[in-house]
Amino acid sequence: MSSGSEAARAGSAPGGLLESEPEHIALSKSKGLKIDWKDRHTSEYGLQELRDACPCASCTGAHGTTPLRDVRERAQADPFQLYKPALKIESAQPVGHYAIQINWNDGHNSGIYSFEYLRQICSCPDCRRRRARSV
Ligand SMILES: [Zn+2]
Ligand SMILES: [Zn+2]
Repeated sequence: MSSGSEAARAGSAPGGLLESEPEHIALSKSKGLKIDWKDRHTSEYGLQELRDACPCASCTGAHGTTPLRDVRERAQADPFQLYKPALKIESAQPVGHYAIQINWNDGHNSGIYSFEYLRQICSCPDCRRRRARSV
């Protein structure tokens, strides 16, 4: 009667990799990204949402730089910054089999969005509910 450790090991391997493998990716330069996952889940990301979620060091504030969010808040408070071109994707390319790199029309292109990360930030009602439960 010593099967306790067996059960623990089985429990620590949830669902395999299917949920971070895209089946189909549809990119719209003016709307955003839509991903159909192999586990039949679908995620949609708006342009602003994707830009805000940029995982690169300068946007997340790593290395002591100011996080993008703070920069934008300050820019909005500046009355001389009235004109701001609409956000658009210039181009995007796959990075290996695990990520996608996006070139924005504001000149930013250092964000590499791994599929695992994209799946994590999926904002559909299902995923939001699941995240809320696990907190
Ligand atoms: Zn960035
Ligand atoms: Zn989702």
